[in-house]
Amino acid sequence: MTPDTSNTRFQDLGLIAPLLARLTELEYQQPTLIQAQAIPNILAGRDLIAGANTGSGKTATFALPMLQQIAQQIADQSSVRNKGGDGNRVSSLILVPTRELAKQVADSVRSYAVHFNGAIKTVAVFGGVSVNTQMKSLRGGSDILVATPGRLLDLISNNAVKLDQVKTLVLDEADRMLSLGFTEELTELLALMPKQKQTLLFSATFPEQVQTLTTQLLNDPVEIQVQSVDASTLVQRVFDVNKGEKTSVLAHLIKQNDWRQVLIFVNSKNGCEHLAYKLLKRDITAEVFHGDKGQGARSRVLESFKSGEIDVLIATDIAARGLDIEKLPVVINFDLPRSPSDYMHRIGRSGRAGEVGLALSLIDYEDSHHFKVIEKKNKIRLEREQVKGFEVDESLIEDVAIVKPMAKPAGTGKKKAKKKADTLNNDKLSNKASVNTDIWSGYSKS
Ligand code: AMP
Repeated sequence: MTPDTSNTRFQDLGLIAPLLARLTELEYQQPTLIQAQAIPNILAGRDLIAGANTGSGKTATFALPMLQQIAQQIADQSSVRNKGGDGNRVSSLILVPTRELAKQVADSVRSYAVHFNGAIKTVAVFGGVSVNTQMKSLRGGSDILVATPGRLLDLISNNAVKLDQVKTLVLDEADRMLSLGFTEELTELLALMPKQKQTLLFSATFPEQVQTLTTQLLNDPVEIQVQSVDASTLVQRVFDVNKGEKTSVLAHLIKQNDWRQVLIFVNSKNGCEHLAYKLLKRDITAEVFHGDKGQGARSRVLESFKSGEIDVLIATDIAARGLDIEKLPVVINFDLPRSPSDYMHRIGRSGRAGEVGLALSLIDYEDSHHFKVIEKKNKIRLEREQVKGFEVDESLIEDVAIVKPMAKPAGTGKKKAKKKADTLNNDKLSNKASVNTDIWSGYSKS
């Protein structure tokens, strides 16, 4: 979380009393950077492109002005107003990529709205649960609808909701939504909304697909980019480990540091189950969180993890986005994420809201090249460290310099130069590797 260092106060942003009172209750002392920059523009009706990820305070950035605009519309309308307008219409739509995020955003919106005393109706709809309850809750219309694209289309085809009166559209985590394959659903949904509306797009990264969407969708938008990870509250570290020793190193670190709430990322559902089993053999109880778990089971696991009942949660990337777990101290990449942007999303689970967090990656020699790509794309450079008692076999790193050049056709001068450069890089890497004794050195363990 990056607070706004210009000393802007919430009172300076043009927010109305019921919202300011709530922010005081929530002990938000100062707007974050994105809140300070975006809220006045949203209140003025501008479209917005924001480069921001979870942890930046982006939910309040769109929720506060949205609530204010609706409260003002309610005040302007006659007393015979139907909640949320007529029938099954929606005034503000927030599209999110996952059900967890849908619930979380809806909870945040409801929390910011408490001083409107129920006058603003917020509904969340997402897949994996019965459609009937959601159809009922949409009856009579809603002011704010938080939805995942697939379920929303289902509900529209059942006539449970109409989008022709949407005044404000938020696309939250647009990059994630598109990378999860929601492009067609989004196109269908956009065609059902009025052309004239305010659109706010939030994305941690801006791949080509997102850029195309922004050009098509936004009208003279304000553009705001905030630092995606706050270096002052999130410590990133990377440990070289021998191939086949990741589990032992992980178990050692968990025990040695007595970690109480650690989120571990693994790339497959089987990988989650397998790691949980191997940790159990080392007396560490872990729960798994992935797409094969039913919605009920996922919610229960998440609640237990949030409340501290579960110390170790092993998750696939489904958990990487949007989970608001306060004060999560440690996030570990057991497997490296495939895409560099997912690295940022994963580590964004830690060091939230001004808390110090640790994001740790365990890499063996096969991960080494991929981690360099992650560093390059995210413009970071981390020193390779080692865990005492699990020092790596340096000769393997040397070997990989020779067997893993990114092959150019044989016999070209470029290939030789590349091989030499790779060897040099890996020499540098092995020189850099230092034996680490205290994982928390440099900041206090809370
Ligand atoms: P978000 O980026 O929206 O997921 O928010 C991350 C966390 O920061 C949530 O727990 C919010 O409640 C919290 N938060 C948002 N804005 C502020 C603020 N201005 N001051 C303190 N905490 C905040």
